[in-house]
Amino acid sequence: MFDQLSWKESIEKLLLEGIVSKEKSMARITKILSTNTPNNRIQSEINQDTLELEVMEVELPLKCPLSLTRITIPARGCNCEHIQCFDLQSYVMLNYKVKSWKCPICNKNAGLKDLSVDEYIFEILEITTSMSDVERVVIDLTARWKIKISKPNVIDLTSEGDKDCQIIHSIVNLSLE
Ligand SMILES: [Zn+2]
Repeated sequence: MFDQLSWKESIEKLLLEGIVSKEKSMARITKILSTNTPNNRIQSEINQDTLELEVMEVELPLKCPLSLTRITIPARGCNCEHIQCFDLQSYVMLNYKVKSWKCPICNKNAGLKDLSVDEYIFEILEITTSMSDVERVVIDLTARWKIKISKPNVIDLTSEGDKDCQIIHSIVNLSLE
């Protein structure tokens, strides 16, 4: 029963009782990606023209859609059918005020008793915590993940000229910052 609890107590309760284990989370990811819904699909950047070589992957943002900062405790509602999470504390604090209790990603009802914390995504956040330029990772059908760094999609290294050199220099500078 959450009725009598403050937002802090509610979060503590969810951290004690509402954690989805890494194994369950990984199985859930595989299930979602293998059901093949268009929203979850992105094509492999390398194989964009060859659909038969398409790799089933999904981008997972590490930012909370509410706070727009990096997620600290990744959470979702039990009705949610997506992999993406929001930050538990941001969500609970906001909804103690506005009392809407709807997932900011899919808009389904997500009351306090429906919330769970994802241990696997928590682990991904922990591992990438010092990598400030990593805003998202890519997860594949087997629930393995890799880092996705934002950068220009196309870098044409075959043509010559000052303009191209400038682009390459700016990319090098960016990566050194
Ligand atoms: Zn949702």
